[in-house]
Amino acid sequence: MNLIEKSKQHLWLPFTQMKDYDENPLIIESGDGIKVKDTNGNEYYDAFSSVWLNVHGHRKKELDQAIISQLDKIAHSTLLGMTNVPATELAEKLVEIAPPALSRVFYSDSGAEAVEIAVKMAFQYWQNLGQTKKQKFISVKNGYHGDTIGAVSVGSIDIFHNIYGPLMFENYHTPVPNVYRHPSEDPVQCSEECLENLETLLAENHESIAGLTIESMVQGAGGMIVMPEGFLSGVRKLCSKYDVLMIVDEVATGFGRTGKMFACEHESVEPDLMAAGKGLTGGYLPVAVTFTTERIYEAFYDDYKNFKTFFHGHSYTGNQLGCAVALENLRLFEKDRIVEQVSDKTDFLRGLLENIKELDHVGDVRQLGFMCGIELVLDKNTKESFPFESRTGYKTSLKMRELGLLTRPMGDVAVFMPPLVSTKSELKKMTAIMKEAIEAVTKEEVQRLDQTDV
Ligand SMILES: *Cc1c(COP(=O)(O)O)cnc(C)c1O
Repeated sequence: MNLIEKSKQHLWLPFTQMKDYDENPLIIESGDGIKVKDTNGNEYYDAFSSVWLNVHGHRKKELDQAIISQLDKIAHSTLLGMTNVPATELAEKLVEIAPPALSRVFYSDSGAEAVEIAVKMAFQYWQNLGQTKKQKFISVKNGYHGDTIGAVSVGSIDIFHNIYGPLMFENYHTPVPNVYRHPSEDPVQCSEECLENLETLLAENHESIAGLTIESMVQGAGGMIVMPEGFLSGVRKLCSKYDVLMIVDEVATGFGRTGKMFACEHESVEPDLMAAGKGLTGGYLPVAVTFTTERIYEAFYDDYKNFKTFFHGHSYTGNQLGCAVALENLRLFEKDRIVEQVSDKTDFLRGLLENIKELDHVGDVRQLGFMCGIELVLDKNTKESFPFESRTGYKTSLKMRELGLLTRPMGDVAVFMPPLVSTKSELKKMTAIMKEAIEAVTKEEVQRLDQTDV
Protein backbone atom coordinates (compact mmCIF):
# COMPACT_ATOMS: atom_id res chain seq x y z
CA MET A 1 0.00 0.00 0.00
CA ASN A 2 1.41 3.41 -0.84
CA LEU A 3 1.63 6.14 1.76
CA ILE A 4 -1.42 8.07 0.53
CA GLU A 5 -3.53 4.92 0.75
CA LYS A 6 -2.20 4.20 4.23
CA SER A 7 -3.11 7.72 5.33
CA LYS A 8 -6.65 7.28 4.04
CA GLN A 9 -6.94 3.88 5.70
CA HIS A 10 -5.74 4.67 9.19
CA LEU A 11 -5.56 8.35 9.99
CA TRP A 12 -8.11 10.72 11.42
CA LEU A 13 -6.84 14.28 11.10
CA PRO A 14 -7.51 17.21 13.45
CA PHE A 15 -10.03 19.87 12.41
CA THR A 16 -10.55 17.97 9.16
CA GLN A 17 -13.57 16.60 7.39
CA MET A 18 -11.93 13.38 6.27
CA LYS A 19 -14.10 13.33 3.16
CA ASP A 20 -12.22 16.46 2.08
CA TYR A 21 -8.88 14.84 2.88
CA ASP A 22 -9.72 11.76 0.83
CA GLU A 23 -10.39 13.99 -2.18
CA ASN A 24 -7.26 16.10 -1.69
CA PRO A 25 -4.65 14.15 0.25
CA LEU A 26 -1.26 15.62 1.01
CA ILE A 27 1.76 14.22 2.83
CA ILE A 28 4.65 16.48 3.74
CA GLU A 29 8.05 14.84 3.76
CA SER A 30 10.59 17.58 4.31
CA GLY A 31 11.10 21.29 4.74
CA ASP A 32 13.76 23.88 4.20
CA GLY A 33 13.58 27.59 5.02
CA ILE A 34 10.03 28.79 4.53
CA LYS A 35 9.14 25.96 2.14
CA VAL A 36 7.90 22.41 2.67
CA LYS A 37 7.97 19.52 0.21
CA ASP A 38 5.44 16.71 -0.24
CA THR A 39 6.03 13.03 -1.01
CA ASN A 40 5.61 13.72 -4.73
CA GLY A 41 8.41 16.28 -4.68
CA ASN A 42 6.12 19.34 -4.96
CA GLU A 43 7.30 22.42 -3.05
CA TYR A 44 5.04 24.86 -1.23
CA TYR A 45 5.50 28.12 0.60
CA ASP A 46 4.54 27.57 4.22
CA ALA A 47 2.36 30.70 4.18
CA PHE A 48 0.60 29.82 7.44
CA SER A 49 3.75 28.81 9.32
CA SER A 50 2.41 25.23 9.66
CA VAL A 51 -0.64 26.60 11.46
CA TRP A 52 0.89 29.69 13.04
CA LEU A 53 4.01 28.16 14.58
CA ASN A 54 7.10 28.63 12.50
CA VAL A 55 9.50 31.49 13.16
CA HIS A 56 12.96 30.92 11.62
CA GLY A 57 11.97 28.56 8.81
CA HIS A 58 12.32 24.79 8.72
CA ARG A 59 15.53 22.94 9.50
CA LYS A 60 17.14 25.93 11.12
CA LYS A 61 20.66 24.73 11.93
CA GLU A 62 20.88 26.24 15.40
CA LEU A 63 17.50 24.82 16.45
CA ASP A 64 18.35 21.37 15.13
CA GLN A 65 21.64 21.52 17.01
CA ALA A 66 19.99 22.59 20.28
CA ILE A 67 17.93 19.40 20.24
CA ILE A 68 20.91 17.22 19.32
CA SER A 69 23.01 18.73 22.13
CA GLN A 70 20.23 18.19 24.65
CA LEU A 71 19.87 14.57 23.49
CA ASP A 72 23.47 14.00 24.54
CA LYS A 73 22.36 14.76 28.12
CA ILE A 74 18.76 13.54 28.54
CA ALA A 75 15.50 13.64 26.58
CA HIS A 76 13.02 13.89 29.41
CA SER A 77 12.62 13.79 33.16
CA THR A 78 9.61 14.92 35.16
CA LEU A 79 8.76 18.37 36.50
CA LEU A 80 6.55 16.99 39.27
CA GLY A 81 8.29 17.98 42.47
CA MET A 82 11.63 18.69 40.75
CA THR A 83 12.91 20.54 37.74
CA ASN A 84 15.52 20.22 35.01
CA VAL A 85 18.20 22.46 33.53
CA PRO A 86 16.63 23.87 30.34
CA ALA A 87 13.15 24.27 31.93
CA THR A 88 14.71 26.38 34.68
CA GLU A 89 16.81 28.51 32.35
CA LEU A 90 13.86 28.99 30.02
CA ALA A 91 11.66 30.14 32.90
CA GLU A 92 14.15 32.90 33.73
CA LYS A 93 14.31 33.96 30.07
CA LEU A 94 10.52 33.95 29.68
CA VAL A 95 10.01 36.13 32.74
CA GLU A 96 12.63 38.52 31.39
CA ILE A 97 10.76 39.07 28.10
CA ALA A 98 7.19 38.99 29.49
CA PRO A 99 5.25 42.06 30.66
CA PRO A 100 6.82 43.15 34.00
CA ALA A 101 4.02 42.00 36.34
CA LEU A 102 4.34 38.40 35.16
CA SER A 103 6.96 36.68 37.27
CA ARG A 104 6.05 32.96 37.25
CA VAL A 105 5.74 30.36 34.52
CA PHE A 106 3.82 27.08 34.53
CA TYR A 107 4.56 24.74 31.62
CA SER A 108 2.30 22.53 29.54
CA ASP A 109 2.31 21.06 26.04
CA SER A 110 -0.28 22.99 24.03
CA GLY A 111 -2.07 26.30 23.85
CA ALA A 112 -5.37 24.77 24.93
CA GLU A 113 -3.74 23.41 28.08
CA ALA A 114 -2.07 26.75 28.80
CA VAL A 115 -5.50 28.42 28.70
CA GLU A 116 -7.14 25.65 30.69
CA ILE A 117 -4.45 26.04 33.35
CA ALA A 118 -5.00 29.81 33.48
CA VAL A 119 -8.74 29.26 33.95
CA LYS A 120 -8.20 26.73 36.75
CA MET A 121 -5.62 28.97 38.44
CA ALA A 122 -7.98 31.95 38.31
CA PHE A 123 -10.79 29.87 39.77
CA GLN A 124 -8.70 28.40 42.57
CA TYR A 125 -7.07 31.74 43.33
CA TRP A 126 -10.36 33.13 44.66
CA GLN A 127 -11.22 29.88 46.44
CA ASN A 128 -7.83 29.90 48.18
CA LEU A 129 -8.46 33.48 49.27
CA GLY A 130 -11.84 32.52 50.70
CA GLN A 131 -13.78 34.57 48.15
CA THR A 132 -15.77 31.48 47.25
CA LYS A 133 -18.54 33.23 45.33
CA LYS A 134 -16.18 34.23 42.54
CA GLN A 135 -16.65 31.20 40.28
CA LYS A 136 -17.74 32.37 36.85
CA PHE A 137 -15.91 33.56 33.77
CA ILE A 138 -16.58 36.15 31.14
CA SER A 139 -15.63 35.01 27.68
CA VAL A 140 -15.70 37.17 24.62
CA LYS A 141 -17.91 36.41 21.64
CA ASN A 142 -16.13 34.86 18.67
CA GLY A 143 -13.15 33.93 20.86
CA TYR A 144 -11.03 30.82 20.39
CA HIS A 145 -8.76 29.28 23.02
CA GLY A 146 -8.19 25.68 21.95
CA ASP A 147 -10.13 22.44 21.92
CA THR A 148 -10.13 20.82 25.34
CA ILE A 149 -13.41 21.17 27.24
CA GLY A 150 -12.25 23.98 29.52
CA ALA A 151 -10.77 25.94 26.62
CA VAL A 152 -13.93 25.30 24.60
CA SER A 153 -16.04 26.53 27.53
CA VAL A 154 -14.39 29.94 27.39
CA GLY A 155 -14.43 29.92 23.59
CA SER A 156 -17.32 31.05 21.46
CA ILE A 157 -17.15 30.06 17.80
CA ASP A 158 -20.51 28.50 17.00
CA ILE A 159 -19.35 26.20 14.21
CA PHE A 160 -16.72 24.57 16.45
CA HIS A 161 -18.35 24.85 19.86
CA ASN A 162 -22.18 24.67 19.67
CA ILE A 163 -22.35 20.90 19.55
CA TYR A 164 -20.56 20.64 22.91
CA GLY A 165 -22.91 23.08 24.64
CA PRO A 166 -24.21 20.58 27.22
CA LEU A 167 -20.64 19.70 28.27
CA MET A 168 -19.49 23.23 28.92
CA PHE A 169 -19.47 25.28 32.08
CA GLU A 170 -21.72 28.27 31.92
CA ASN A 171 -20.28 31.74 31.62
CA TYR A 172 -21.03 35.29 30.60
CA HIS A 173 -20.38 36.58 27.10
CA THR A 174 -19.34 40.02 25.99
CA PRO A 175 -18.81 41.31 22.43
CA VAL A 176 -15.50 42.28 20.83
CA PRO A 177 -15.45 45.06 18.24
CA ASN A 178 -15.66 43.99 14.61
CA VAL A 179 -15.08 47.25 12.78
CA TYR A 180 -15.72 45.87 9.27
CA ARG A 181 -19.11 44.47 10.26
CA HIS A 182 -20.16 47.45 12.41
CA PRO A 183 -22.73 49.72 10.71
CA SER A 184 -20.62 52.82 11.38
CA GLU A 185 -17.21 51.23 10.59
CA ASP A 186 -15.95 53.67 13.21
CA PRO A 187 -13.33 51.96 15.39
CA VAL A 188 -13.82 54.32 18.32
CA GLN A 189 -17.59 54.01 18.44
CA CYS A 190 -17.40 50.26 17.93
CA SER A 191 -14.89 49.87 20.74
CA GLU A 192 -16.82 52.10 23.16
CA GLU A 193 -20.04 50.17 22.61
CA CYS A 194 -18.31 46.92 23.50
CA LEU A 195 -16.64 48.39 26.58
CA GLU A 196 -19.97 49.80 27.81
CA ASN A 197 -21.51 46.38 27.39
CA LEU A 198 -18.70 44.81 29.42
CA GLU A 199 -18.96 47.42 32.14
CA THR A 200 -22.69 46.80 32.56
CA LEU A 201 -22.03 43.08 32.88
CA LEU A 202 -19.23 43.61 35.41
CA ALA A 203 -21.13 46.15 37.47
CA GLU A 204 -24.02 43.73 37.92
CA ASN A 205 -22.12 40.47 38.38
CA HIS A 206 -18.51 41.06 39.41
CA GLU A 207 -19.01 39.49 42.82
CA SER A 208 -19.54 36.13 41.14
CA ILE A 209 -16.86 36.54 38.45
CA ALA A 210 -13.37 35.05 38.79
CA GLY A 211 -11.85 36.03 35.47
CA LEU A 212 -12.22 37.15 31.89
CA THR A 213 -10.58 35.40 28.95
CA ILE A 214 -9.61 37.25 25.79
CA GLU A 215 -7.24 36.82 22.86
CA SER A 216 -4.60 39.49 22.65
CA MET A 217 -5.28 42.21 20.02
CA VAL A 218 -6.44 39.79 17.30
CA GLN A 219 -9.17 37.15 17.33
CA GLY A 220 -7.30 34.59 15.26
CA ALA A 221 -9.51 31.58 14.55
CA GLY A 222 -12.54 33.89 14.72
CA GLY A 223 -11.44 35.42 11.41
CA MET A 224 -8.37 37.58 12.11
CA ILE A 225 -10.44 40.33 13.69
CA VAL A 226 -8.04 43.05 14.83
CA MET A 227 -9.15 44.96 17.92
CA PRO A 228 -9.21 48.75 17.56
CA GLU A 229 -6.80 50.91 19.55
CA GLY A 230 -7.87 51.36 23.15
CA PHE A 231 -10.03 48.26 23.38
CA LEU A 232 -7.69 45.79 25.11
CA SER A 233 -6.44 48.45 27.52
CA GLY A 234 -10.07 49.39 28.17
CA VAL A 235 -10.79 45.77 29.11
CA ARG A 236 -7.74 45.82 31.40
CA LYS A 237 -9.04 48.91 33.21
CA LEU A 238 -12.48 47.39 33.72
CA CYS A 239 -11.04 44.10 35.02
CA SER A 240 -8.97 46.02 37.57
CA LYS A 241 -11.87 48.26 38.56
CA TYR A 242 -14.13 45.27 39.27
CA ASP A 243 -11.44 42.95 40.67
CA VAL A 244 -11.72 40.31 37.98
CA LEU A 245 -8.59 38.49 36.76
CA MET A 246 -7.66 39.21 33.16
CA ILE A 247 -6.53 36.11 31.28
CA VAL A 248 -4.89 37.06 28.02
CA ASP A 249 -4.42 34.43 25.33
CA GLU A 250 -1.19 35.12 23.45
CA VAL A 251 -0.96 31.61 21.99
CA ALA A 252 -1.26 32.87 18.41
CA THR A 253 0.05 36.41 18.87
CA GLY A 254 2.98 35.83 21.22
CA PHE A 255 6.66 35.63 20.24
CA GLY A 256 6.89 38.39 17.69
CA ARG A 257 3.97 37.52 15.45
CA THR A 258 2.40 40.99 15.58
CA GLY A 259 5.61 43.05 15.63
CA LYS A 260 5.93 43.09 19.43
CA MET A 261 7.24 40.23 21.57
CA PHE A 262 3.70 39.95 23.01
CA ALA A 263 0.73 41.65 21.37
CA CYS A 264 -0.52 43.10 24.67
CA GLU A 265 2.52 45.42 24.50
CA HIS A 266 0.71 47.33 21.71
CA GLU A 267 -1.61 48.57 24.47
CA SER A 268 0.83 48.38 27.42
CA VAL A 269 -1.47 45.82 28.99
CA GLU A 270 -0.23 43.65 31.84
CA PRO A 271 -2.47 40.61 32.24
CA ASP A 272 -2.93 38.69 35.50
CA LEU A 273 -2.51 35.44 33.60
CA MET A 274 -1.17 34.93 30.11
CA ALA A 275 -1.14 31.82 27.94
CA ALA A 276 1.45 31.37 25.20
CA GLY A 277 2.57 28.52 22.98
CA LYS A 278 2.79 28.24 19.20
CA GLY A 279 5.95 30.28 18.42
CA LEU A 280 7.68 29.42 21.72
CA THR A 281 9.78 26.62 20.26
CA GLY A 282 10.09 28.20 16.82
CA GLY A 283 7.57 25.65 15.58
CA TYR A 284 9.68 22.65 16.59
CA LEU A 285 8.23 20.92 19.65
CA PRO A 286 5.07 21.13 21.78
CA VAL A 287 5.78 23.41 24.73
CA ALA A 288 3.32 25.97 26.06
CA VAL A 289 3.35 28.21 29.08
CA THR A 290 0.99 30.00 31.47
CA PHE A 291 2.47 33.15 32.98
CA THR A 292 1.18 34.64 36.18
CA THR A 293 1.86 37.27 38.81
CA GLU A 294 3.45 36.91 42.22
CA ARG A 295 0.11 37.88 43.79
CA ILE A 296 -1.58 34.82 42.28
CA TYR A 297 1.38 32.53 43.00
CA GLU A 298 1.36 33.54 46.66
CA ALA A 299 -2.31 32.60 47.07
CA PHE A 300 -1.27 28.98 46.45
CA TYR A 301 1.87 29.03 48.63
CA ASP A 302 1.14 27.49 52.04
CA ASP A 303 1.60 24.38 54.17
CA TYR A 304 0.47 21.28 52.29
CA LYS A 305 -2.21 20.52 54.89
CA ASN A 306 -4.08 23.71 53.97
CA PHE A 307 -5.10 22.35 50.53
CA LYS A 308 -3.92 25.28 48.45
CA THR A 309 -1.70 23.31 46.07
CA PHE A 310 -2.39 23.61 42.35
CA PHE A 311 -3.13 19.99 41.48
CA HIS A 312 -2.49 20.06 37.77
CA GLY A 313 0.25 18.66 35.53
CA HIS A 314 0.98 16.61 32.44
CA SER A 315 3.38 13.74 31.81
CA TYR A 316 5.63 15.74 29.52
CA THR A 317 5.44 19.10 31.30
CA GLY A 318 8.78 20.95 31.02
CA ASN A 319 10.23 18.46 28.54
CA GLN A 320 13.99 19.06 28.16
CA LEU A 321 14.16 18.78 24.37
CA GLY A 322 11.29 21.25 24.02
CA CYS A 323 12.73 23.70 26.55
CA ALA A 324 16.21 23.46 25.00
CA VAL A 325 14.91 24.34 21.55
CA ALA A 326 12.74 27.12 23.03
CA LEU A 327 15.82 28.63 24.68
CA GLU A 328 17.74 28.56 21.41
CA ASN A 329 14.70 30.02 19.64
CA LEU A 330 14.67 32.97 22.07
CA ARG A 331 18.42 33.41 21.66
CA LEU A 332 17.89 33.65 17.90
CA PHE A 333 15.10 36.19 18.48
CA GLU A 334 17.70 38.46 20.04
CA LYS A 335 20.58 37.68 17.70
CA ASP A 336 18.52 38.10 14.51
CA ARG A 337 16.36 40.91 15.93
CA ILE A 338 13.23 39.00 14.87
CA VAL A 339 10.68 41.28 16.56
CA GLU A 340 12.22 44.41 15.02
CA GLN A 341 12.34 42.68 11.63
CA VAL A 342 8.62 41.92 11.70
CA SER A 343 7.86 45.43 12.85
CA ASP A 344 10.07 46.88 10.09
CA LYS A 345 8.47 44.73 7.37
CA THR A 346 4.88 45.37 8.49
CA ASP A 347 4.36 48.43 6.27
CA PHE A 348 5.95 46.70 3.30
CA LEU A 349 3.54 43.81 3.75
CA ARG A 350 0.63 46.23 4.12
CA GLY A 351 1.55 47.63 0.71
CA LEU A 352 1.52 44.15 -0.84
CA LEU A 353 -1.85 43.40 0.72
CA GLU A 354 -3.25 46.60 -0.82
CA ASN A 355 -2.94 44.86 -4.21
CA ILE A 356 -5.17 42.09 -2.91
CA LYS A 357 -7.63 44.51 -1.31
CA GLU A 358 -8.34 45.97 -4.75
CA LEU A 359 -9.84 42.69 -6.00
CA ASP A 360 -13.60 42.69 -6.68
CA HIS A 361 -14.41 40.05 -4.09
CA VAL A 362 -12.11 41.06 -1.27
CA GLY A 363 -14.18 42.91 1.31
CA ASP A 364 -11.60 43.53 3.99
CA VAL A 365 -7.92 42.95 4.66
CA ARG A 366 -6.88 42.87 8.33
CA GLN A 367 -3.32 42.87 9.53
CA LEU A 368 -1.28 43.21 12.67
CA GLY A 369 2.38 42.51 11.91
CA PHE A 370 2.64 39.12 10.20
CA MET A 371 -0.86 38.08 11.19
CA CYS A 372 -3.23 38.74 8.30
CA GLY A 373 -6.73 37.81 7.17
CA ILE A 374 -8.32 38.48 3.79
CA GLU A 375 -12.11 38.35 3.86
CA LEU A 376 -13.71 37.19 0.62
CA VAL A 377 -17.23 38.46 -0.07
CA LEU A 378 -19.78 37.99 -2.81
CA ASP A 379 -20.62 41.69 -2.90
CA LYS A 380 -18.00 44.23 -1.95
CA ASN A 381 -20.53 47.06 -1.54
CA THR A 382 -23.16 45.31 0.56
CA LYS A 383 -20.55 43.01 2.24
CA GLU A 384 -22.80 40.07 1.45
CA SER A 385 -20.93 36.81 2.06
CA PHE A 386 -20.58 33.94 -0.34
CA PRO A 387 -23.08 31.18 0.41
CA PHE A 388 -21.78 28.81 3.11
CA GLU A 389 -22.13 25.82 0.75
CA SER A 390 -19.86 27.44 -1.84
CA ARG A 391 -16.82 26.93 0.39
CA THR A 392 -15.09 29.76 -1.40
CA GLY A 393 -12.34 30.04 1.21
CA TYR A 394 -11.60 26.33 1.05
CA LYS A 395 -11.57 26.27 -2.76
CA THR A 396 -9.23 29.26 -2.75
CA SER A 397 -6.81 27.43 -0.47
CA LEU A 398 -6.83 24.41 -2.81
CA LYS A 399 -6.02 26.73 -5.71
CA MET A 400 -3.16 28.22 -3.68
CA ARG A 401 -1.89 24.71 -3.04
CA GLU A 402 -1.95 24.05 -6.78
CA LEU A 403 0.10 27.23 -7.26
CA GLY A 404 2.68 26.20 -4.64
CA LEU A 405 1.49 27.75 -1.39
CA LEU A 406 -0.06 26.23 1.72
CA THR A 407 -2.49 27.96 4.04
CA ARG A 408 -5.76 27.18 5.79
CA PRO A 409 -8.71 29.55 5.71
CA MET A 410 -11.25 30.27 8.40
CA GLY A 411 -14.50 30.13 6.47
CA ASP A 412 -14.09 32.75 3.75
CA VAL A 413 -11.19 34.48 5.46
CA ALA A 414 -7.91 33.54 3.79
CA VAL A 415 -5.06 33.45 6.29
CA PHE A 416 -1.59 34.80 5.67
CA MET A 417 0.80 34.13 8.56
CA PRO A 418 4.22 33.52 7.04
CA PRO A 419 7.28 32.49 9.06
CA LEU A 420 8.68 35.58 10.78
CA VAL A 421 11.96 35.43 8.84
CA SER A 422 10.24 35.69 5.43
CA THR A 423 12.14 38.17 3.29
CA LYS A 424 10.55 41.00 1.31
CA SER A 425 10.97 39.09 -1.92
CA GLU A 426 9.40 35.97 -0.40
CA LEU A 427 6.49 38.05 0.93
CA LYS A 428 6.04 39.46 -2.55
CA LYS A 429 5.98 36.02 -4.18
CA MET A 430 3.58 34.60 -1.61
CA THR A 431 1.10 37.47 -1.80
CA ALA A 432 1.21 37.29 -5.62
CA ILE A 433 0.19 33.62 -5.49
CA MET A 434 -2.58 34.40 -3.04
CA LYS A 435 -3.87 37.19 -5.24
CA GLU A 436 -3.89 34.98 -8.33
CA ALA A 437 -5.78 32.22 -6.52
CA ILE A 438 -8.33 34.58 -4.97
CA GLU A 439 -9.00 36.29 -8.27
CA ALA A 440 -9.43 33.02 -10.18
CA VAL A 441 -11.60 31.22 -7.64
CA THR A 442 -13.92 34.10 -6.74
CA LYS A 443 -14.49 34.81 -10.44
CA GLU A 444 -15.32 31.17 -11.12
CA GLU A 445 -17.54 31.04 -8.07
CA VAL A 446 -19.54 34.12 -9.07
CA GLN A 447 -20.05 32.70 -12.56
CA ARG A 448 -21.21 29.41 -11.11
CA LEU A 449 -23.65 31.15 -8.76
CA ASP A 450 -25.00 33.31 -11.62
CA GLN A 451 -25.70 30.18 -13.65
CA THR A 452 -27.48 28.37 -10.83
CA ASP A 453 -29.60 31.51 -10.28
CA VAL A 454 -31.07 31.32 -13.77
C1 LIG B 1 -3.98 27.83 18.46
C2 LIG B 1 -4.58 28.58 19.57
C3 LIG B 1 -4.86 27.96 20.79
C4 LIG B 1 -4.68 26.49 21.01
O1 LIG B 1 -3.38 26.09 20.94
P1 LIG B 1 -3.04 24.53 20.72
O2 LIG B 1 -1.58 24.46 20.86
O3 LIG B 1 -3.51 24.24 19.32
O4 LIG B 1 -3.81 23.77 21.72
C5 LIG B 1 -5.34 28.74 21.82
N1 LIG B 1 -5.56 30.04 21.66
C6 LIG B 1 -5.32 30.67 20.49
C7 LIG B 1 -5.56 32.13 20.40
C8 LIG B 1 -4.85 29.97 19.40
O5 LIG B 1 -4.64 30.58 18.24
